[in-house]
Amino acid sequence: MSSRRLLLAALILGLIAAFFVLDLGQYLQLEYFKSRQAAIEGFRRSSPIAAGGLFFVIYVAVAALSLPGAAIMSLAVGAIFGLLWGALIVSFASSIGATLAFLSSRFLFREAVRSRFGDRLRAIDAGLEKEGASYLFVLRLVPAFPFVVVNLLMGLTRIRIPTFYWVSQLGMLPATLVYVNAGTQLATLESIRGLLSPALIGSFVLLGIFPFVARRAVEAFKGRRRLSKWPRPAKFDRNMVVIGAGSAGLVASYIAAAVKAKVTLVEKHRMGGDCLNTGCVPSKALIKSARLVAQAKRAREYGLRSVQVEFDFADVMERVQRVIKTVAPHDSVEHYTSLGVECIQGEAKIASPWAVEVRTGAGVRTLTTRSIVIAAGARPCVPAIPGLSEVGCLTSDTVWDLRVLPARLVVLGGGPIGCELAQCFARFGSKVTQIEMLPRILIREDPEISELLTRQFRDERIDVRIGHKAVRIVREDGEKVLVCEHGGKEVRIAFDELLCAVGRIANTTGYGLQELGIDPGPSCTIETNEYLQTLYPNIYACGDVAGPYHFTHTASHQAWYAAVNALFGGLKKFRTDYSVIPWATFTEPEVARVGINETEAKEKNTAYDVTTFGLEDLDRAIAEGETQGMVKVLTVPGRDRILGATIVGEHAAELIVEFIMAMKHGIGLNKILGTIHIYPTLAEANKYAAGNWKKAHAPQGLLRWVEKFHAWMRG
Ligand SMILES: Cc1cc2nc3c(=O)[nH]c(=O)nc-3n(C[C@H](O)[C@H](O)[C@H](O)COP(=O)(O)OP(=O)(O)OC[C@H]3O[C@@H](n4cnc5c(N)ncnc54)[C@H](O)[C@@H]3O)c2cc1C
Repeated sequence: MSSRRLLLAALILGLIAAFFVLDLGQYLQLEYFKSRQAAIEGFRRSSPIAAGGLFFVIYVAVAALSLPGAAIMSLAVGAIFGLLWGALIVSFASSIGATLAFLSSRFLFREAVRSRFGDRLRAIDAGLEKEGASYLFVLRLVPAFPFVVVNLLMGLTRIRIPTFYWVSQLGMLPATLVYVNAGTQLATLESIRGLLSPALIGSFVLLGIFPFVARRAVEAFKGRRRLSKWPRPAKFDRNMVVIGAGSAGLVASYIAAAVKAKVTLVEKHRMGGDCLNTGCVPSKALIKSARLVAQAKRAREYGLRSVQVEFDFADVMERVQRVIKTVAPHDSVEHYTSLGVECIQGEAKIASPWAVEVRTGAGVRTLTTRSIVIAAGARPCVPAIPGLSEVGCLTSDTVWDLRVLPARLVVLGGGPIGCELAQCFARFGSKVTQIEMLPRILIREDPEISELLTRQFRDERIDVRIGHKAVRIVREDGEKVLVCEHGGKEVRIAFDELLCAVGRIANTTGYGLQELGIDPGPSCTIETNEYLQTLYPNIYACGDVAGPYHFTHTASHQAWYAAVNALFGGLKKFRTDYSVIPWATFTEPEVARVGINETEAKEKNTAYDVTTFGLEDLDRAIAEGETQGMVKVLTVPGRDRILGATIVGEHAAELIVEFIMAMKHGIGLNKILGTIHIYPTLAEANKYAAGNWKKAHAPQGLLRWVEKFHAWMRG
């Protein structure tokens, strides 16, 4: 603690101690005021300003030091100054006192508490940010939340000082008026207990929850009003229409069918959406072939003189298509029809919140429905780089059509998709240059993880160019050339094909959203609330079209909420749970993560301990010749609570599941350490990381005593 903090803490403690040692509390008793009421009133009549000032200062001090007696003071002020002046004095004095207590708590404790419990306080911060001042207003309005506790707790949050002051003053006003008014009857009051009857407290509670109820009611009203502009059919053909049969749409429609709702799934292109046709499935199939090639090149490391790999890139790409075809039945019209989903191959357009038009080869049909789930996905984003449209580029949509391996490939983008594909093509023999504008690839991961992957890529002869901004594409001497800006200079990179992997953009146009007034939000996705409702309470959005995550597992996770809320929201709605979100990048080594990493912890000012375990010490990794990587776990300082884990290495995406499970169910590293892991496995790395954490957190003082005990036992 700094000397200024120590000084303030000492001053406050000294004043509180003086209050109790000198028994000043006796002057803040109802009986004392009643016995001295006449004398105090005399003082007020002769010197009203001095009397008012004195009460004001004492009240501020009592409130600021969180001393007992504020309620009695309010009664006394009411008795002596009457309702109007009394309310003025108490209202300002209590608000100023509360703000001083709030500031002291902020100055003395916030840093320390945030560094220990920052992640917990973030929920309160988020509540404050979202509900705004009404959150504090409720706490103030309901006397059941103690005045002192609210002051001190709020000091630990990020609420602004002026907001705290004015909301406190406004929120405490009703209770102030009740107390001061009761004070005007001081002579007849026997105790303050009788003052706040259960009925009165009940009224305050009602008043307190009023802002929340009102907000919800206003939202519901706005939603209904928006809906009322559209003619509502007397009867509906369906309970739900789902637009898009990707990961999100398939799960939403399956859930609906499973609970016996009448559901129609409309897909304009291919069942299975991106994941099956152009995303997860083909990319993982391609990665497998590329890995085999890379492993063969490492034959000598494994004691094999040589392993010749001969391949035709076209065959590899045909295998990718075979894999898609093998998985496709899982997402097929036949399969979903058998599950009870009506599947229509056609293009959907939302005609009204109650109707979806479907254009098929046979014409246009209009389906009336109680709810709509938009699961229209996203598409690759192609930036407006001058010259790009003239030379053309590959994207994750079109790269699967390649049958001839590009000799020189530029991969634009250092995110997961760019990294996975860059490594694949390099392994097949393309000369790959990877361009990333930011200072490192995989920017969401910690710097040492990006560096580890960059080193691996460079070892595999991928020319990783960080801090390179693509500015234009030109043709020079018959060659396509990408011109980048780097360190104030222009860099030219000749290429045969350019693969654009700079991000994905939600599909929000062409199917009626604009006509309904549903415009994309700042992140270019459809804006939804925590229940995944759009502007219209019966239209939901999930998956890539809604964000914020762009993964198959998050799309299906959201789809459950969208479907259940759409069908049963009238009875109970469920908030989408984003508390434990994992993901992986399937490069070699793989990078998998759940929860926060060190970079995010620093950005969010969350205190953390880091524990790592390097795979170079793991028997199985050594046996496999796959020692590149680590397990890195962030925990709450001094506590066995996991904030996040990153695993880099072979099968990292499988190994991370132990941490996902642990975080989801509040299991700490002690429990992971106490769980038998099969020897020799890569999964043991998790246990060893837990062991390292345990070692670093061993109670050194106790161990010194144990050492003495053993020495004593030896005699
Ligand atoms: C190369 C690549 C690799 C990836 N790898 C992984 C991975 O390893 N793991 C992972 O979790 N995620 C991965 N992803 C991301 C994952 O594919 C997506 O997050 C996921 O597919 C999103 O599912 P979705 O249902 O939201 O959208 P989509 O799968 O895009 O489905 C949307 C569907 O809606 C249809 N549609 C749109 N508008 C209409 C309309 N008006 N009428 C009818 N139909 C319409 C589209 O045709 C499409 O089929 C990868 C993505 C790419 C591109």
